[in-house]
Amino acid sequence: MARQILLGGAWVDGKGKPFNGINPANGSVIDEIGTPSVEQVNQACDAAWTAARKPAWRNMMGHQRAAILHRAADVVMERKESLARAQMLDNGKTIGECREQVVGTAGIIRYFAAVCETLEGEVTPARGNFMSMTVYEPFGVIACITPYNSPLTLGAQKLAAALAAGNGCVLKPSEITTISSLELGRAFVDAGLPEGLLSVLPGNREVGRAMIEHPKTGMVSFTGGTATGRAIAEMAAKRLIPALLELGGKSPNIVFEDADLDLTIPGIPYAAFSSMGQSCTTGTRLFVQQSIFKDFLKRLVEHTSRIRIGLPPDEKAMLGPCSSFRDRERIEGYVAKGVAEGGKIEIGGKRPEGAAFAKGAYYTPTIFTGLDNNATPCREEIFGPVLCVLPFKNEDDLLAQANDTVFGLAAGVWTRDFGKAWRTARALDAGTVWINTYRQSSVACPFGGFKESGIGREKGPQGVRVYQQAKSLYWGLGALPWHKDLAAK
Ligand code: NAD
Repeated sequence: MARQILLGGAWVDGKGKPFNGINPANGSVIDEIGTPSVEQVNQACDAAWTAARKPAWRNMMGHQRAAILHRAADVVMERKESLARAQMLDNGKTIGECREQVVGTAGIIRYFAAVCETLEGEVTPARGNFMSMTVYEPFGVIACITPYNSPLTLGAQKLAAALAAGNGCVLKPSEITTISSLELGRAFVDAGLPEGLLSVLPGNREVGRAMIEHPKTGMVSFTGGTATGRAIAEMAAKRLIPALLELGGKSPNIVFEDADLDLTIPGIPYAAFSSMGQSCTTGTRLFVQQSIFKDFLKRLVEHTSRIRIGLPPDEKAMLGPCSSFRDRERIEGYVAKGVAEGGKIEIGGKRPEGAAFAKGAYYTPTIFTGLDNNATPCREEIFGPVLCVLPFKNEDDLLAQANDTVFGLAAGVWTRDFGKAWRTARALDAGTVWINTYRQSSVACPFGGFKESGIGREKGPQGVRVYQQAKSLYWGLGALPWHKDLAAK
């Protein structure tokens, strides 16, 4: 029997075609997973719509809605180990990283609970004989679609915020990370979320399409690749509904000659290779100032050679496998292209040796030199542990190269010079810039992309507002202009 799906808060058999969840650490089948028929997708959207309009949810006070979210965070923490293991089996992240992400997930839910309690409307300045105010109302049903790299945190970021805003949600997770996403849904339901408000619908793009095309879906919240984002934006445009798009990246990470190298050198492999480079913000184009290039590269390669690859349950492993075998194929394809375009592999560029790794989708962290910024591995998102190192002469040369990309998600700047850090950070086309650090993340900071890395922002207090629409109210305080004319016979 295939694993059940979450439809309108109830666990039911999917009537669509089931598929197998595969553990990328060894290729074994984790479970057979049910998928919904289009009719079931429609039922889920209808259920979310109906539940979101019921006074019990629509008129629930912020602090009461927040209490449900806090309970969901409690449930997530009570299930920390099982949720971490579910994600580990789904996408091969190390158990250590998965545990951290479960804690992050609970933190995200609590943050949006706090925002929910403190949401305010506005009394706007009077411009006539009336009082005017603005209130914010939910869209109704939010179609949430997530990628495979961080299903718990990215799922929570959408669900907790959209629910805090008063909506119902249908979530379609990546086919790779279905089980952990279903378990995230279970935590919300077990926390006492009113019936009907939440569905988690595994499946492929057709499930996503049916969710967006449903006439009651009021908004799409998507995280994934740029090409998919474009397809989703087109579907949303046809329906004239807003789409929040968190898309891909090709982030520059910049090392100036005056950087504190003892801090910087270990920071670069973390920026490029942590999570197997399968993070949207991965620092994949490393720009190193010409004057320190040679020595820097030597030390960088040395540090990279110390990264411990291991089986995901290994507490000491720094990296596990790629999230899927298909992923590894794509990464290998990019490495082959880099070589064909004249790149030199300084380290990596192969699968790790050893019987333990033979059955899984493992790959070694790879550093390229000798490619220029126009080479395919420097232009396209690889979404894997592949770093291209490029020299630059001065700030002008650096900015021209760093910004020469269609993406604009994130960037890193390493320097001791505050003025240079400020100038560079402000001049980079990126939604997030890290200075003397990388991949630090706070739910309190708005997150999103410039250029083709996305439209809109998640997180921060605005991370809830984005799931609401403004409504203006005018309260008359006296007569309208025609009053006298019409009143006098
Ligand atoms: P993807 O775009 O292939 O898939 C993302 C989701 O969209 C999946 O659930 C998939 O099934 C669904 N989907 C695919 N085609 C669809 C369609 N036509 N209609 C509806 N749904 C469709 O991305 P992925 O390979 O799962 O994840 C990797 C990508 O996600 C990378 O590009 C990465 O940069 C990006 N990402 C971005 C962020 C961010 O916040 N900006 C965060 C994490 C990952």
